[in-house]
Amino acid sequence: SPRIGVLALQGAVAEHARALTASGAEVRTVRRPAELDGLDGLVVPGGESTTMARLAAPVRMMEHIREAQHDGLALFGTCAGLILLAREVADPEALAGFPRIGGLDVVARRNGYGSQQDSFTEPLDIVGLEEPLEAVFIRAPVVEEVGAGVQVLAESRGIPVALRAGRILATSFHPELTDDHRLHRLFVEIARDA
Ligand code: GLN
Repeated sequence: SPRIGVLALQGAVAEHARALTASGAEVRTVRRPAELDGLDGLVVPGGESTTMARLAAPVRMMEHIREAQHDGLALFGTCAGLILLAREVADPEALAGFPRIGGLDVVARRNGYGSQQDSFTEPLDIVGLEEPLEAVFIRAPVVEEVGAGVQVLAESRGIPVALRAGRILATSFHPELTDDHRLHRLFVEIARDA
């Protein structure tokens, strides 16, 4: 079965590990660059992108993940993870100059839904899934621009919220917080097709 890591610097690590295990992956938590060795895929979880970027900096974790992605590692970024994968962040000062992974050709705005709407749940139609998926948004980023090579898998209120570009999958919501593991299964399949 595919070997999938969950970046475990901060955030919703255990929930992703559970969903991935239930989806047939062999799962390991990843805190150091050496722990990327031998992985087919890596989940970059939700949490706080600024905290993760700061914790990653001393061991250059973001740069190591970027290199592994170039060498074929599949990536799944959720919420803060999407922010870390985005080509550009619209409010870069929040990241205080700490490196991110990049690689996904989108522009993301942190907390872009604003305080009125900071959390909500919504049934989403997602390309490739037969039934809607109940999506949990928590201080989610807003995807403001999407590059030509990026497929939009789902939109909410006219804003892209699920994206795929080759072996990169990203959602601005939290698919690990429900018992619906269809996106984790999709990611395990992407990682398997190495
Ligand atoms: N607002 C958080 C950030 O900017 C993301 C929130 C989340 O991952 N639930 O990193």
